[in-house]
Amino acid sequence: MINQIIRGHRVVTPLIVGPASVHISEGRIAAIREWDDVPAGIPLTDAGSSVVMPGNVDAHVHVNEPGRTEWEGYETATKAAAAGGVTSIVDMPLNSIPPTTTLAGFEEKLAAAEGKCAVDVAFWGGVVPGNTAELADLIERGVRGFKCFLIHSGVDEFPHVTESDLRVAMPEIARLRSVLLVHAEVPGPINLAAASLAGLDPRKYETFLSSRPRESENEAIELMIRLCRETGCQIHIVHHSSSDALPMLRAALDDGLPLTVETCPHYLTFAAEDVPDGATHYKCCPPVRERENREKLWKAVADGTIDMVVSDHSPCTPALKLQETGDFMDAWGGIAALQVGLPVMWTNLKKRGFGVADLTRLMSVQPAKLAGLDYRKGKLAAGYDADIVIWNPESEFKVVPEIIQNRHKLTPYSGMELYGVVETTYVRGQKVYENGDFVGTKVGELVI
Ligand SMILES: [Zn+2]
Repeated sequence: MINQIIRGHRVVTPLIVGPASVHISEGRIAAIREWDDVPAGIPLTDAGSSVVMPGNVDAHVHVNEPGRTEWEGYETATKAAAAGGVTSIVDMPLNSIPPTTTLAGFEEKLAAAEGKCAVDVAFWGGVVPGNTAELADLIERGVRGFKCFLIHSGVDEFPHVTESDLRVAMPEIARLRSVLLVHAEVPGPINLAAASLAGLDPRKYETFLSSRPRESENEAIELMIRLCRETGCQIHIVHHSSSDALPMLRAALDDGLPLTVETCPHYLTFAAEDVPDGATHYKCCPPVRERENREKLWKAVADGTIDMVVSDHSPCTPALKLQETGDFMDAWGGIAALQVGLPVMWTNLKKRGFGVADLTRLMSVQPAKLAGLDYRKGKLAAGYDADIVIWNPESEFKVVPEIIQNRHKLTPYSGMELYGVVETTYVRGQKVYENGDFVGTKVGELVI
C-alpha cells in the first residue's frame, strides 16, 4: 500500500539523475516510477527542480556520549545530521566513556543513545590491546566493524595497537568477515619531528604541520597493506591526508587487496598555507596539508583510489580549543563538520566539474557499503529505506553559528558561502527536517 510519493525532475537513482517519482510504503521505497505515475489520493511532495537524493551516510562521527556529552551528544549530533541531509551516522568507538571496546561498554552506549536520535545510528567497535576476545560478541550485538589507532588516540581509555597486537586481532576480524578501520599514523616519524620543534611558535600552523609529517601516514599505510596481504583482513583507511601514500594505495587496490579509503571535506577544502595563526579550529590529525597535497587528493577522488568522503565530526568544548592562546600544539584536534558536509562537498564538486551522482556515490553509496548498511541504505531503489534528502544545488547560504545544530558552534567553515541548501530530510519516510525547522526529532533508530 503506497502511502506517500516524492517526485522531482532531478531524482538520483542508481541508474540516472532525472525525472522520477519515489513511491513509499511503510518507510520503505516500494518503487521508482515515471515522474507522472502518481495515482490520485496519495499524498504527494513535489521537489520541483531540487535534487532528490538518498540521504548521506556519514560513517565517521564522534558523538562522545556517554562520558563526554559536554562535547557533543546523540540529540544534538543527530539534529545536525538531519539539518545537513545526513540520514544515518555511524558512531566511532572512542571519546565516549566507556569506549566501545567491550560488550559492556557497547551496552552502555546503546542505552545512552536510545530514544534521542533524529536520524538512524549505527556503531563501530574498537580494537585495543588485549580485547580480541570481545570482538565476536560485539559483532553479534551489532557493531558494523572495528576501529583502531596506530598512535596515541588523544584519549587514554582508548590505547593504540602495535603490529603484534594487530597480528592477534586481524585474523579474528577476518574470521568474523568484518572490517578494520585504521587511524593510519605511526609514532616513529612524529617522535623524530618533535626534536626539531623546540623554539618554534605554537601559534603558527606550520609548527603543528611539521609535528605530524607525511612519513607517519606513509609508514602506517605501508604496514597496513602488508598486514592486509598477510592476514586477508579487510581494512579501511580513515581520514586519509598524505598524498605521498596514494601510489601505494593504488598499487594495493590494483593487486585486489580488500582495502578502502576515505578522506574528509577539510582535506579537500582547506590548505595549510591559508590557515591563520592561532586558528586552532582547523586542527585535526592527520593534519590538513599543503595545497599541492590537496590537489593530489582530488585526483585520487576522481580516479577512485579514494572511495568516499565522511565528516570525521569530532567536536569538543570551546575551552579545549584554547582560542585565547591559539596554541596549536596543545589544543584538542578535531573538526566539527557533520551539518555542512553535503554543501561543502557540493561546492567543491561543482567547481571541479563533478555532478550530483558523484556526490551520492562518495557520501551515500560507498559509506553505506563500508558499514554493511548497503542492504537498506545509501540508494533510492525498491526495497531500500526511504531515507531521502531534498536539496537545492543552485541556492547559496552562509555558514553562521545560529544555524549550527550540534552542541558547539565553532567550525572552520564558519563564514563560508556554500552552494547546496538542504530543504527537507526524511528518515524511513518520516519528515524530520524542513527549511530550518525540525518536525519529528526522535524518529531515529539504532541499527544493530
Ligand atoms: Zn575520527
